[in-house]
Amino acid sequence: MTTPAPLLLALDFGGTKLTAAMTRPGRGGWLAHRRFFTPATADGPYEYNKMLALAGELIAEVGRPAAIGVSFGGPVDAAAGLVRLSHHVPGWENVPLADRLRDTFGLPVAVDNDANVAALGEYRFGAGRGCQNLLYVTVSTGIGGGWILNGQPYRGADGMAGEIGHTIVQTGGLPCVCGRRGCLEAEACGPGIANRARLYLEQNAGQGDALLRLAQGDPQNITAKMVAEAASAGDPFSRRVLVESARRLGLGLGNAINLMNPDRVVLGGGVTKSGELWWQTVREAARANVLPEISVNIVPAAFTDDAPLWGAVALAEQVAG
Ligand SMILES: [Zn+2]
Repeated sequence: MTTPAPLLLALDFGGTKLTAAMTRPGRGGWLAHRRFFTPATADGPYEYNKMLALAGELIAEVGRPAAIGVSFGGPVDAAAGLVRLSHHVPGWENVPLADRLRDTFGLPVAVDNDANVAALGEYRFGAGRGCQNLLYVTVSTGIGGGWILNGQPYRGADGMAGEIGHTIVQTGGLPCVCGRRGCLEAEACGPGIANRARLYLEQNAGQGDALLRLAQGDPQNITAKMVAEAASAGDPFSRRVLVESARRLGLGLGNAINLMNPDRVVLGGGVTKSGELWWQTVREAARANVLPEISVNIVPAAFTDDAPLWGAVALAEQVAG
């Protein structure tokens, strides 16, 4: 008789929601799953207490886990289990999250930031299985990334490795939240695609009618999803916007591929649902930018919203002993 895989608790502190789930690795699904959308007024202590309540419910329902893995949406000192801050929610400055959870539950706990954890989730359970060297990039409201090198998460000196979103792909390009211009994030994330559409509308009076109709006549309503929709329907203006954004992403990925020569690049996030033209452009632009000896293998993520949660399972597995 083989010993069953240990029961593991995965917690995900996202920007707008808290998720807790319980599974046994190899089971391929959740034994129990809870999601809570945090109100705009939430602060760190509120989120922490709410997550404790979700974890308590799962433990009462499924049983006591062997370990807890935590994904956190913000910079984390993974070795110390310390949350540095949240970009979305106040009151998370220098919180020793791993220590607190360990004291509360009397269990081993591992904590890391969401991009690193999502990379681990895809590597262990998703589209990165079988790789030794993997770059995971999420393309949604921002662009984040995480590395697996030689089968282990690579976090860098400050835990900030994989910040591909703030590598420059266009000198003097679109303004970025970090204060610079032409970052990959500003050029190719969802809001970046919408910004490019608005910019091209300004520069090309009389164009973009199909897209403007989707936006009910107001350029401020334009979203990346609308651009992808109009592009799929054949609108030349939207195709140009989508292709130019996808090209910048391919360029940024090509730079990372040249530097590290990963086995595979896994792309997740809502913008990856932009259709075949987007995927084809990203792959072609990456290939055009790498040395001929380097293989380019860019694939869609297996998980959408749940990549950090599956990564948290993998983190828990590592400390479960
Ligand atoms: Zn930036």
